[in-house]
Amino acid sequence: MAKNQHEPNANEIWLYFQAVISWVKIVFPNYRREMKGIDWGFLYNEYKNEKFDSKKLETEIARLMEDEDVGSKKGIYTYVLTRKEKHLNIRAFSPNQKREAYERQKGVCVVCKEHFELNEMEADHIDPWHSGGKTTAENCQMLCREDNRRKSGK
Ligand SMILES: [Zn+2]
Repeated sequence: MAKNQHEPNANEIWLYFQAVISWVKIVFPNYRREMKGIDWGFLYNEYKNEKFDSKKLETEIARLMEDEDVGSKKGIYTYVLTRKEKHLNIRAFSPNQKREAYERQKGVCVVCKEHFELNEMEADHIDPWHSGGKTTAENCQMLCREDNRRKSGK
């Protein structure tokens, strides 16, 4: 560490750090150990000027913490701010669930009505996950890769 080089900025850094911590405490008053190691500086920079209802967020966080489909509990905090589901690492459909949906559809993509092999298709939530749809065989449909890409906007 080149100590002397950084010393003039130390006070600024400390003030910034304090501002980040204060903001986190206001938006998320209920501390959980999952809050460690999150890139709070980035989230603070992006969202510090937005208004959040911390009570509502807490209710949602508590619900997501108990949701079996949420693979990344730590990602919940980033998700409730960014609304990007990728942070939740939502459980993928199992090979059996995919097979079941594939057989039910007789290998036909529900969008383009073309026939595909199982390995040419991808699983999709019928009832979207964000509106309460679960990662179950009943809620699974198989789409061809192209239609799945179009649907998920990737
Ligand atoms: Zn298709």
